[in-house]
Amino acid sequence: MEEIHAHMEEAYPHECCGLIVGSVNDGARVAADSRRCRNLNTERARDRYELDPRDMLRAQRELDGGPWDIVGIYHSHPDHPSRPSGTDLAHAWAGWSYMIGSVVQGRVASVQSWELADAGDRFEEESVDIPTAGGEEN
Ligand SMILES: [Zn+2]
Repeated sequence: MEEIHAHMEEAYPHECCGLIVGSVNDGARVAADSRRCRNLNTERARDRYELDPRDMLRAQRELDGGPWDIVGIYHSHPDHPSRPSGTDLAHAWAGWSYMIGSVVQGRVASVQSWELADAGDRFEEESVDIPTAGGEEN
């Protein structure tokens, strides 16, 4: 989460994007790490992202045979709420988490995570549980 926040703030006022890497446990996606990706959309980098497919391929190759897989995508919304846009909906895949961070004046103001509803026509917010450092999750 700290890495994702740092990436979002560094990219400001542009949108950044990256992959959430981890595993799926009992239907819950468990994030273990993240991978920064290039935003190929330089023309509208303030309000669009286009994750570089080469970055995704590289991550998939690197994770191949290991315990982790890609479980979602994060991206930032500079000076906009952390709710998915119509474009986000049009490009979303089922089974992944879409974490969106609102970055206001260079600082992450809120982060929400979304998943595609079964019908694929809208997003539903999903809860994000962050285990406390050193503590066991209850
Ligand atoms: Zn978006």
